[in-house]
Amino acid sequence: MDAGERMNTGFEHFKKEIYEKKPELFSELAKGQSPKFMVFACADSRVCPSVILNFSPGEAFYAAHIAAMVPPYDNTKFSGAGAAIEYAVLHLKVENIVVIGHSCCGGIKGLMSFKGDGSSGT
Ligand SMILES: [Zn+2]
Repeated sequence: MDAGERMNTGFEHFKKEIYEKKPELFSELAKGQSPKFMVFACADSRVCPSVILNFSPGEAFYAAHIAAMVPPYDNTKFSGAGAAIEYAVLHLKVENIVVIGHSCCGGIKGLMSFKGDGSSGT
C-alpha cells in the first residue's frame, strides 16, 4: 500500500467508523472547541496521546515536540511552543497541562549523550 492509498484508507475508516457514528459530537465541534487538557507529547510516532489516554476529538489540545520538551519562556525564541501555551491557556482556557514522557525516547537519549562542546553538527 502506498502512502496516498494508506492516507485515503485511514480517512475513509475515520469517516465511516467515527465521524458518521458520532454526529452530535462533530456537530458541536464544528461550532468550536473547549478542551480541558493541553498535552505536550513527544513527536515520536510510537506515542499517540489520543490512543494512550483515550481522548475523543475535542478533549485535548496538542503540541508535539522532540522529547516532549517545553522550552523556557522567552518572548523572542521558541515562539511555537509559547504561542501554543498562550492560546490554550488564555483563549481555550484549558484546565490541565500535561507533559507526557515515554520510555525509549530517542530525543532524551540524544539529549543525554550530547557533549555540548560544539563537536556535534546538530
Ligand atoms: Zn520521545
